[in-house]
Amino acid sequence: MLDSIRVRLTLWYTLVLALALVLLAAFSYLLYGRSLRQRTDSGIVELSAAFATTFAAELVDADVLAAGGPRIAARQAMLEHRFEGTAYAVFDPNGQLLATSTDLFPSDQPGRTVGKDVLASDALRDFASHAGSDPAALRTLPGGRGGLRASARSMVTPGGNYVLIVLQSLHPQKQLLGDIRHTFYWAIPVALLFACVGGYFLARQSLAPVAAMASQARAMGAANLHDRLIVKNDRDELGQLALSFNQLLERLEASFEQQRRFVADASHELRTPVAILRGEAEVTLAKNDRSQAEYRETLAVLRDESQRLAGIVEDLFTLTRADAGQYPLNLRDAYLDELAAQALVRARSLAAAKNISLQPSLEPDLPIRADEVLLGRMLLNLLDNAIKYSPPGTTVELICRREGDHYAIRVTDQGVGIPPEMQSRIFERFFRADKSRSRSETQSGGAGLGLSIARWIAEAHQGGLELTRSDPSGTRFTITLPAPSNPHGSNPG
Ligand code: ADP
Repeated sequence: MLDSIRVRLTLWYTLVLALALVLLAAFSYLLYGRSLRQRTDSGIVELSAAFATTFAAELVDADVLAAGGPRIAARQAMLEHRFEGTAYAVFDPNGQLLATSTDLFPSDQPGRTVGKDVLASDALRDFASHAGSDPAALRTLPGGRGGLRASARSMVTPGGNYVLIVLQSLHPQKQLLGDIRHTFYWAIPVALLFACVGGYFLARQSLAPVAAMASQARAMGAANLHDRLIVKNDRDELGQLALSFNQLLERLEASFEQQRRFVADASHELRTPVAILRGEAEVTLAKNDRSQAEYRETLAVLRDESQRLAGIVEDLFTLTRADAGQYPLNLRDAYLDELAAQALVRARSLAAAKNISLQPSLEPDLPIRADEVLLGRMLLNLLDNAIKYSPPGTTVELICRREGDHYAIRVTDQGVGIPPEMQSRIFERFFRADKSRSRSETQSGGAGLGLSIARWIAEAHQGGLELTRSDPSGTRFTITLPAPSNPHGSNPG
């Protein structure tokens, strides 16, 4: 059960809320209790001051003196300041109990909480004996239900110092605090129960899209990669998650489609040479008697087609390894002008066969760190294309030089050019601008992989390959490769 985020969220939420509620309740209970005690204390101090004033006034009253002295004055003051839950005791200057409120109203409320025993107790007498000039001398005494708060005050008269004790029962105060405590005892659990249930539903509601996404994602496979998760609100976190997931699916679908097309195109390209091989063999074998010349002719076709087949397979292998990032670059220090010269030598026979003249313009001393085999292959691909798509008697130019912080290699021909609407697609795999032409004009017509491989090689060397010009008067491809910042610092091997 704890494996569910919903349950864990609810439990954490309830635990934190419980802690907050208990702390808040304890804090407010303590604060309220303190304020109640302070109010009681200031109440009895004020009462004792008022009592003392009345007592003094009664003492100087001639009638009171005539009628019998301080006891009457004390009783008079008690009658005037009679409050529920409050009791008084007055001690004469000799420390003897002069009068108590229980003498006056024994069956009153204070009488029930403050008994005679308390007013005559040693604790009270002791408190009275210690009363000084401080009007706020306060003490908590046992007695009644829940204890008593007492204030002692010295009342100075011409006849000596009388001591007044005002007692206030703490029972109502304790009862109030008890009520508050009991309210907390049931209110906090009820609040937590509501919060827990509410929190659980809220968590369930919020996480419902995640559960929906999970079941939708589980149902997805290669066959229905075009399905997308439903995004209810693309502004919240879950919506963003679903959007990211959909974007991932889009990329996966595109890459699946690319792979599918690659395999389909590859098998299509391989089918043609295989069909030619079989056809040639079948035609030759169909007749028993063939001249040696006929057999040689057939074998030459078989050799050319198997060469073409091997070329396509090699190109496919290179591209799939490049896609997987598994083609190891064998980087060595070399000279670009030398690599270009070697490519020209290899292209010479192709050019001669078509009566095309090669015109190199190679700046000397161009050090580079590169995979010599791959760079040679890239240059030969471009030269091969330039020769392949140019009419006889024309010129193919190869320029190789340093331009600032990079090398520029330009292959320019005077061929038929590439139609403008096709120019953006020539780097796509298996793309051929004119399939019949490239197949018919040359025995080893490419499969449309040459430029893809050439571009990959340039990029693998942190450079690039672009078609920089193409019109009916000719085509130019430009390769850029990074040049070392200190040309003479390189140490060609
Ligand atoms: P291919 O093996 O068919 O030559 P590439 O990838 O090398 O494949 O080239 C793709 C297509 O670009 C070619 O089929 C051709 O139509 C066009 N192309 C490439 N280079 C040239 C060029 N120098 N002149 C005209 N068209 C070209």
